[in-house]
Amino acid sequence: MFVEIDGSIGEGGGQILRNAVALSAVLLKPVRIKNIRVKRSNPGLRPQHLTAVKAVAALSSAEVTGLSVGSLEISFNPLRRLQGGSLKFDAGTAGSTTLILQSLMPAMCYASKPVEVELRGGTNNPMAPPVEYLQEVLLPVIEKMGGKFKIELVKRGFYPRGGGVVKAYSIPVDTLKPIRLVEFKNVKKIRGLSYSCRLPGHIVERMANTVENILGREGYDIDIRREALQPNNPKCSLDPGCGIILLAELEGGIVIGVDKLGEKGVPSEKIGEEAAKELLGEISREAPVDKHLGDQLVIWACLAEGTSQYRVTNLTKHTTTSIELCRIITNTYVEVDGVEGEPATITIEGIGLRRE
Ligand code: ATP
Repeated sequence: MFVEIDGSIGEGGGQILRNAVALSAVLLKPVRIKNIRVKRSNPGLRPQHLTAVKAVAALSSAEVTGLSVGSLEISFNPLRRLQGGSLKFDAGTAGSTTLILQSLMPAMCYASKPVEVELRGGTNNPMAPPVEYLQEVLLPVIEKMGGKFKIELVKRGFYPRGGGVVKAYSIPVDTLKPIRLVEFKNVKKIRGLSYSCRLPGHIVERMANTVENILGREGYDIDIRREALQPNNPKCSLDPGCGIILLAELEGGIVIGVDKLGEKGVPSEKIGEEAAKELLGEISREAPVDKHLGDQLVIWACLAEGTSQYRVTNLTKHTTTSIELCRIITNTYVEVDGVEGEPATITIEGIGLRRE
């Protein structure tokens, strides 16, 4: 029996598809998803989504129908969990490798042996987590839940040609522990990375200096690393690009992350200023889970054994959509105390999935 999912619920974007196949694969529960990304200007599967579905299908030996660019409906029928091994996927030009990973990580976590995945595509994309966000913000929380991953950035990839390489390694777990992240404690330090490829070195300096000035005035202890790669470095991308990632370390080991990608024609100072102000905005909300982590944690809390509770800086539509989807597929109990656009506390009764 297929679980029917309407891809137009809530946010109506790619995340519904990615989370649906991820849950389907770990639960071995077939799903049929219609109206895929109908709320986007380019509805249906894009190459990046196609690769995500193919990758999760490979990990779960799934039978899939409807897999073509532009497709508005797919069915996904996983037959068994992966034994382990080494896999490679290409997101196509600058498709986001990190969004593919978002979809793959639950299946990697519950495979029966270690998994190694190499993904080719974009590593720093608009509207997607940069690799450093997964490494510095998401993974530490998944680790607290017992998950065992390593993510490595081999080569950066920017729009339009992508060509970046990310490797992810997982060691399977039997079960995940719930997570409790409700108290906001002091900001101990703000770390960051101002990065560029194939651009003059003053770009990273200007982004970083602006951030240091703005956050320094607020009295924070700041450490921003600069990385300006040129083509002689194997980690350098095919196309030019830049951006900045800021990480506020809270007492208790939780990290709030903010990132901005550079844009052609936008001064570096403006990128730095936007990143610094966004981070100050997140900190001012006095919640330990940033607005992106808020939606990315839903699926993990849903799979864990026991009750997870966390407080987000901003209850986004992505978060409420992920909650809705998890409810549809797993029937899990979720309570949200707060309203969209504001800080909120989320309580999720995990289903306690166990590896066979
Ligand atoms: P669509 O397919 O609908 O065009 P999409 O596939 O890019 O969109 P969304 O449904 O918009 O996917 O989901 C984007 C995901 O990326 C969400 O999990 C969100 O939290 C995450 N994300 C977006 N921007 C950032 C960012 N700057 N830092 C960290 N995570 C981000």
